[in-house]
Amino acid sequence: MSLTEPLNLRTGRVCWPEDDDAVPRGDPWPAGPVDVAIVGAGVMGAMLAERLTAEGRRVALIDRRPPARGATAASTALVMWPADIPLVTLAQTWGEAEAARRWRRVHSAVLDLAGRVAALGLRADWMPRPELYLAGDRLDEFGLRREAEARAAAGLPSRYLTPSEVAATFGLPPRAALLSQDAFSVDPMALTLELLAQARRRGATLTWPADVVSIAAIGDGVRLTTAGGATLDAGQAVLATGYEAARDYLPPAFKLGSSFAIATAPGVAPLWRDGAMIWEAADPYLYARTTADGRIVVGGADEDFADAARRDALLPDKRRDLERRGAEMLGCDVLESDCAWAATFGTSPDGLPAIGAVRGFEQLWLAAGFGGNGVTFASLAAGLIAAGLSGEPDPDAACFSPYRFG
Ligand SMILES: Cc1cc2nc3c(=O)[nH]c(=O)nc-3n(C[C@H](O)[C@H](O)[C@H](O)COP(=O)(O)OP(=O)(O)OC[C@H]3O[C@@H](n4cnc5c(N)ncnc54)[C@H](O)[C@@H]3O)c2cc1C
Repeated sequence: MSLTEPLNLRTGRVCWPEDDDAVPRGDPWPAGPVDVAIVGAGVMGAMLAERLTAEGRRVALIDRRPPARGATAASTALVMWPADIPLVTLAQTWGEAEAARRWRRVHSAVLDLAGRVAALGLRADWMPRPELYLAGDRLDEFGLRREAEARAAAGLPSRYLTPSEVAATFGLPPRAALLSQDAFSVDPMALTLELLAQARRRGATLTWPADVVSIAAIGDGVRLTTAGGATLDAGQAVLATGYEAARDYLPPAFKLGSSFAIATAPGVAPLWRDGAMIWEAADPYLYARTTADGRIVVGGADEDFADAARRDALLPDKRRDLERRGAEMLGCDVLESDCAWAATFGTSPDGLPAIGAVRGFEQLWLAAGFGGNGVTFASLAAGLIAAGLSGEPDPDAACFSPYRFG
């Protein structure tokens, strides 16, 4: 029995180059104890490793797959701060001040990531983009105006646009929207590999394939054991295992479902202006972005079951559905896909991740970026866990605790 159940995380062809030559060869199993062992080398593990090695920690990453080949490869990688659950809705659960605090922290995680990308000179097709949140069945025009007020009161950079302003500014069909700043698009696999390379230059090891089957407390640290019987002692361990979550530790409020995406051939964009990243205030929602090589990516049409066989059987229908509904949202006659994929996807009741030490096992941390902003949540987790390991916990840490729902 593994610590985490291996899942069929994705099927189909994603729009990012899956170039085997870009994947680093696995390092030998680490010789000695390390400060932090990170299980999982997707975008979450990569951001953690970059941050922790920058602080001088000895880090070992372990993955059962090649790096960046789990959920990260399926990501459409809109790097945004507005979460799946609107701020006005979140305020009903947490109260206005607490909801605003959570959103501000997520916003600062995006700015933090942008700062690190610039400081490290990472490329990964990182681009600033306007972000448009279109009226839908979750928030109509009136609801969007209220959401704009709540965001403004929280000090967040969003404003309401009328349907004619959306049409005139972006060349999209007229539909009310919120326009937000501080959003970015990226190639998620390239970002992950660049972050891992940075961490390795600072001495981190990246060992794959190796399946971690158990983590036990020993003394004031932990011991990891692999399926092959290798062991590694570490001061702390972080489970950055994505949707292959350690169910012994991650509470059931964090659930799995399925998501779908298509991409046109390169060179089709632009069909609208400024490369805006677009999504709908709807449930389930549709979203769209462009890539550096001019593909148009449309995703969404989520289902709340995670069974991979059932998910994959739906892909041909979902592909046609995304082509049709994407064309409608973007105001073009036809949207012909060049590739399509189906993937496991994680959600949480407030659209926010599970980050924090395991209850009763303080040397073991969870970094589970459930929710639509998994890339942003990786930046958030890196900041929160780095602070936690330094002995000066982040003042917002409890907002993202895995146990906040009880
Ligand atoms: C279709 C789709 C679209 C998305 N779009 C966006 C978006 O637009 N914006 C956004 O921010 N987020 C988006 N996300 C979410 C985001 O992609 C994910 O949150 C993120 O990629 C998860 O990264 P991760 O590193 O946590 O997981 P993964 O990339 O899955 O990495 C976890 C790794 O852990 C390894 N592992 C697990 N268990 C073990 C073990 N026991 N031993 C060794 N290794 C183990 C796995 O092999 C895997 O490689 C999207 C997700 C999907 C599926």
